Amino acid sequence: MIIYIFIIGTVIGSFLNLMVERIIRKESFIFERSKCLGCNQQIPEYCLVPILSYILLRGKCLNCKIKIPSYFPLFEFIYGINTLIFYMTENILFFSVTTILHLISISDILTKRFPCQFSWLLIIIAIINTNFNYLEVLITCIIGLLISKLGFLDNKIGNGDIDLIIVLILIFNLLNASIIIFISSLSALIYLLLNNKLRIIPFIPFIYFGTIVFLVLSYLKFSLY
Ligand SMILES: [Zn+2]
Repeated sequence: MIIYIFIIGTVIGSFLNLMVERIIRKESFIFERSKCLGCNQQIPEYCLVPILSYILLRGKCLNCKIKIPSYFPLFEFIYGINTLIFYMTENILFFSVTTILHLISISDILTKRFPCQFSWLLIIIAIINTNFNYLEVLITCIIGLLISKLGFLDNKIGNGDIDLIIVLILIFNLLNASIIIFISSLSALIYLLLNNKLRIIPFIPFIYFGTIVFLVLSYLKFSLY
């Protein structure tokens, strides 16, 4: 059953990847068949199996050998894990937050920014989660702004990332949000060290990754929350 849920998750993750990519390219994402960005050939069904196709095709288009971005299988895998966590914990709040994080991560990778509608959606979810405790929201915003004013973060973290940190604190509480941000920063740092040519990286995918790692750890420790 667990494997089954994971596979369903990777399929949904794959659909979400494609959806964001097509919205960004202003294409219809329901009626059109998948095409390769390099040679414009339709991608055969057997090449659309999440994760597995990428491995079997060795990350290249069957026809023109153009490289398929590695975040594709990675995000399918992460969403598989995400769906599994949802199945185990039945926590719809965390699942909606991680699903939105999935969408804005792809957008951040492709365009270096993310649509503010999603950021507002997250803020609304976060405020509902506090039971409309505006004092808590206000205090959290001040903490978020203070974090953004810290010199060493100034150039590293964009404005959208600050919104996200505020949302994380409201949803997971300050301690847990700090753990998530720590995991995210650590993984981003490792990624930067491994790719020493890069100067700027989209940070939201790492926040997404950090949140999933945190949820898995919490689940394995039988709930931090
Ligand atoms: Zn191709």
